[in-house]
Amino acid sequence: MKTSNTYLSSLPTTVFTIMSQLAAKYDAINLGQGFPDTEGPADIINVAAEALKDNRNQYAPLTGLPELRQAVAESNRRFYGLEIDPATEVVVTSGATEALAACLMAVVEAGDEVVLIEPLYDTYLPMLKMIGAVPKCVRLQPPHWKLPEEELRAAFGPKTKAMILNSPMNPAGKVFSQTELELIAGLVKEHDAYVICDEVYEHLTFHVKHIPLMTLPNMRERCMRIGSAGKSFSLTGWKVGYVTAPSALASVVAKAHQVLVFATAPNLQRAVAHGLNKDDSYYKSLSADLELRRDILVEGLHRLGFETLPADGSYFVVADTSRHAQGRTDVEFAEWLVEHAGVATIPVSAFYDPEGAEPPRNMIRFAFCKKPEILHEALRRLEKALT
Ligand code: PMP
Ligand code: GLN
Repeated sequence: MKTSNTYLSSLPTTVFTIMSQLAAKYDAINLGQGFPDTEGPADIINVAAEALKDNRNQYAPLTGLPELRQAVAESNRRFYGLEIDPATEVVVTSGATEALAACLMAVVEAGDEVVLIEPLYDTYLPMLKMIGAVPKCVRLQPPHWKLPEEELRAAFGPKTKAMILNSPMNPAGKVFSQTELELIAGLVKEHDAYVICDEVYEHLTFHVKHIPLMTLPNMRERCMRIGSAGKSFSLTGWKVGYVTAPSALASVVAKAHQVLVFATAPNLQRAVAHGLNKDDSYYKSLSADLELRRDILVEGLHRLGFETLPADGSYFVVADTSRHAQGRTDVEFAEWLVEHAGVATIPVSAFYDPEGAEPPRNMIRFAFCKKPEILHEALRRLEKALT
């Protein structure tokens, strides 16, 4: 028989699935894959449940239900002062993952270069490879996740078509500052590039303001801004995403969505519209709650002798393993922890280009979007295994 697709056949199963399987095998607390262990808001779930009985279960419109596109436009205005036309500048997708693929497909062709920042979310590189694009990776520098200006400048060139910017960032927990965004905006403009702004953690920041690149001068027409109901409403299984982009780009993103999925579940869309319209207090308590959990985990890790890297947003904090790993790599240490401590994490080397230079091997990622009592129990288990 002829072979199946060479690239996909050899693509390893995602580290999130591998670590979740190990967590199940060893009955470990899963601080690996990033998902909350509590349900999203009951009122949003009720709207979805009621909507199923409402005779609107056939295909939704291609770019999304009008009420959800309206809610996306309104939340752009409420949080960032962006004036968005819900009819032409919003595309609803089946999760931010599909949104990423659709945005990349909308602007990138085989041979184009795309600037990425490592450590990076694990779907970016495979998506680029499948399009035939060429990744140009720039590494943030631990321990402060500094963006190296000269290296970033060098990654841009005449073939640069786009950049993927993830802020707040997975796995680094970094929220890009105004100054960093200005540097990026300057390079993007100079090289006439587009930016796919992965902002799924936009509402999960801790006393640091999330600034969409799209709000900077001249960036409105170059950015495709991606949000995720999974993250904003603690409903990661729903897979509802939304792209905000100027109409010239949104119309092409919609073509990609037409080819990939066509339409997203209508009851979930109605519920997400309801969620997006929740008042400011919802969003404040979402981040305050998560910040509390971050602090429990980070303080506990420090007590155990781990150094942690700054985490101003997202579900994640990265810890330096040097003190405890006894020569093990991050992968070996994460495997050891899941088996011997009963705590699953993610080795951070998984977030680097496997074809790039040797990645750091001394960092693991903890997800803190878990109940406080679970985080305390995980810390007790770590203490028992490591001291
Ligand atoms: N981008 C980043 C940085 C993420 O962490 C995630 C969450 N898995 C996604 C995109 C995908 O989001 P969704 O579940 O809505 O597809
Ligand atoms: N975004 C989640 C994480 O980083 C996982 C999503 C997935 O498993 N595909 O943990």
